Amino acid sequence: MAQKKLQSIRGMNDLLPTESARWQYVEATVADILGRYGYNEIRFPIVESTDLFKRSIGEVTDIVEKEMYTFDDRNGDSLTMRPEGTASCVRACEQNGLLYNQVQRLWYMGPMFRYERPQKGRLRQFHQIGIETFGMEGPDIDAELLLITARLWRELGIDSAVTLQLNSLGNIESRAAFKQALVAYLSERKDQLDADSQRRLDSNPLRILDSKNTSTQALLDDAPVLLDYLDDDSRQHFDTLRQLLDAAGIKYVVNPRLVRGLDYYGKTVFEWVTDKLGAQGTVCAGGRYNGLVEQLGGKATPAVGFAMGIERLVLLLEELNALPEGLQQNVDAFLMVVGNVQIDAVKVAEQLRNDMPHLRLQTHCGGGNYKSQMKKALKSGASVALVLAEGETAAGEITLKYLTEEKPHKTVAWTNLAAELVNS
Ligand code: ATP
Ligand code: MG
Repeated sequence: MAQKKLQSIRGMNDLLPTESARWQYVEATVADILGRYGYNEIRFPIVESTDLFKRSIGEVTDIVEKEMYTFDDRNGDSLTMRPEGTASCVRACEQNGLLYNQVQRLWYMGPMFRYERPQKGRLRQFHQIGIETFGMEGPDIDAELLLITARLWRELGIDSAVTLQLNSLGNIESRAAFKQALVAYLSERKDQLDADSQRRLDSNPLRILDSKNTSTQALLDDAPVLLDYLDDDSRQHFDTLRQLLDAAGIKYVVNPRLVRGLDYYGKTVFEWVTDKLGAQGTVCAGGRYNGLVEQLGGKATPAVGFAMGIERLVLLLEELNALPEGLQQNVDAFLMVVGNVQIDAVKVAEQLRNDMPHLRLQTHCGGGNYKSQMKKALKSGASVALVLAEGETAAGEITLKYLTEEKPHKTVAWTNLAAELVNS
């Protein structure tokens, strides 16, 4: 019986070299900027106990209701492949004593898993770079996060294609008061709501605000507005944040309907959105979540963070032709091993690597005649082929052939090879 061909899981992609070079560029740019702002990397496991996500993200959210990859391990414990990083980060910091009487500026990067309908910019294994900060209460740190992202967009050359949307969710009490007013307003018009929103009216009414349904959106035009319900402290926080952004020249739009899909946010929430990627327009999203540490069993700790989707960033860079040339690196030199000279080849190549640690040198493996190896040398992108040929090794010599310049070839002693390459 013919076996079924093995394939990757739907929505979980391979990254081939052309693409991984683009990812490395994005990742390196982010890591560099974060280093300049004094952020440190944290790494936590890909699998955590299911409870962690249920208790943090909230039972009545899309993620927990229908998107998690959850399974029992051999011991019968329920585990979940992380759908996001914030909960794990809080867990890791609490467990390792990083939270109290100190401040933390942390970042992480890696795969996240959500069982969603795969499409452009939406995958089941996708990748985020995230920041979480702890111990800072004021709007200055909220502003810092937005300045970091704004700088990142500038350095990546995509700043003209993204806009910052900003809102404040207030504290628990003001949100509760708003929720009540919203539910009262929408309940009177329940029959005009889409089915999803009708369901959310009981379970998670705030999420109705970001319904994609146009008639629901029309209904919301006259609904109570969250910002009108803000408590004084949240209003002050929001106003100061706006002043800081204005002072730094960061443009934003206040979107009073911006809520985040997760339960743990309060006060500041924001999204960077683009109109260049169709429905998957949010490239970066985050906000303040002062209640989460306590919700997970720790002591109340102010926190604010965000996550951006690497797939969407790379798509946007491609869309805007903003990727620099030559990301996929060629080698500088290609060592041809012609005839029975493998032992000499190892010696010459390793000596050369000692002498020139930054040289990108590819050694040909697997034999073959001069002609076939020369073809490979040309294909490698190297500017010089180092031809180690049986006839020349007795004299300790090697021939340099220039592949990208009109220059006569040259035979030199092995001992002079590094000097020759440095000068050519
Ligand atoms: P969306 O509204 O697009 O579903 P979300 O609110 O679920 O996004 P967050 O949980 O805030 O997303 O994640 C932060 C960022 O991670 C998003 O802005 C997006 O860039 C990226 N992201 C989220 N889910 C996916 C996915 N399934 N595939 C690719 N990127 C994703
Ligand atoms: Mg989602």
